[in-house]
Amino acid sequence: MSCYDLPGLLPFDQALVRMLNQLMPAEGDETLAITEAVDRVTAEPVRAKVNLPVFDNSAMDGYGLRYQDALNDRPLPIQGRVLAGQTLDEPLKPGHCVRIMTGAPLPEGCDTVVMQENAMETDQGVTFDPLPEQGANVRLHGTDLKAGDVILPAGHRLRPIDVALLTSVGLADVRVRRRLSVAVFASGDELQPAGTALEPGQIYDSNRPGLHALLDKLGVDVLDLGVIPDDPDALRQAFRTANDSCDLVISSGGVSVGEADFTRDILDQEGDIEFWKLAIKPGKPLAFGRLSQAWFVGLPGNPVSTLVTFHLIAVPAIRCLMGMPHQPLAQLNAITSEPLHKTPGRMDFQRGYWDVQDGTVQVRCTGSGQGSHQLSSLTGANCYIALEQDRGPVASGETVTLWLFDDAMA
Ligand code: AMP
Ligand code: MG
Repeated sequence: MSCYDLPGLLPFDQALVRMLNQLMPAEGDETLAITEAVDRVTAEPVRAKVNLPVFDNSAMDGYGLRYQDALNDRPLPIQGRVLAGQTLDEPLKPGHCVRIMTGAPLPEGCDTVVMQENAMETDQGVTFDPLPEQGANVRLHGTDLKAGDVILPAGHRLRPIDVALLTSVGLADVRVRRRLSVAVFASGDELQPAGTALEPGQIYDSNRPGLHALLDKLGVDVLDLGVIPDDPDALRQAFRTANDSCDLVISSGGVSVGEADFTRDILDQEGDIEFWKLAIKPGKPLAFGRLSQAWFVGLPGNPVSTLVTFHLIAVPAIRCLMGMPHQPLAQLNAITSEPLHKTPGRMDFQRGYWDVQDGTVQVRCTGSGQGSHQLSSLTGANCYIALEQDRGPVASGETVTLWLFDDAMA
């Protein structure tokens, strides 16, 4: 235990490991047409159905020949022509060449293709200058992939480029995990939906729409339960409704120690809290655990804390439930171009903007301040400046570690 570990505050790494050790991919998979499967996660390794290339073919528009035949510089008469989609039914005759186009099958006996820019047609036949190496411009069958090769592992989230890969090896559909269902709600008597007039003391509920959009981006089914008042019975009902139909419940607010913070108590009564307070800033109060059927992540209410802990804790949980392996954010060392306020005791995830200046990776803080209510610090950022738990104030010019935003946040 570090001398700065505060009693009751769980270090970030430990929280992540404890959470991921408990979570298992949600059961259930289905077969989908590949074109319908973008953003879904493969349920099993995907294997090629055919060799790639499917047959030996030309990589150039030019002339196919038997290399030996071209060595004595005599013109080679054209035996025939073959375009992509066609075949030449007879083998290449000795001392001849074929006119061949990119993607056309190589006639039997033909081992080399000369690009047409290096060929000259005469009445006697075709001469070549320069003659490339033997085997040039030929794509041999099975050299890219062999039938039966695993081309994507299980737990891979399908991207548009994977659609091209899978269809190139003859697949029309793919076995994927079912969509995860995630409930989301915000709690707080002060919260009003955007588009309404605010009474004194009220603010707009920005966390729930933000979380909803982030969840949409992850490709899960979202059950939006709206804003729940600071009332224990209403909160209990929201968690029960979510538990009945979802894999995971994400709440915002009410999870701290204030007089209107009921989330933690309700979770304690309705399920098992695995951990509550984390040694991180922003986002110290965060509850993770299990209801009778669903998992829950109770996020803090301060808007920056909500979104940052969603990214750092809830996204790994969601990816795990979706069947994906844990993928930590990419890290990069940088020089801070300004001093950073930091006190030992919690790991800081300050919001920063990194770029390269004079060949050096530099970073600066974003927003009008780093307060957990200042959303501009997050929207202007492209990374976290991850300051270690034990670290104190950072001087300008010191090296810091960046955690780069990934596609969940960017
Ligand atoms: P809480 O975690 O409920 O104590 O809230 C902490 C701070 O975040 C308070 O200033 C709340 O008004 C604010 N807050 C809570 N929920 C939201 C929300 N959904 N949208 C915007 N701000 C919120
Ligand atoms: Mg509150």
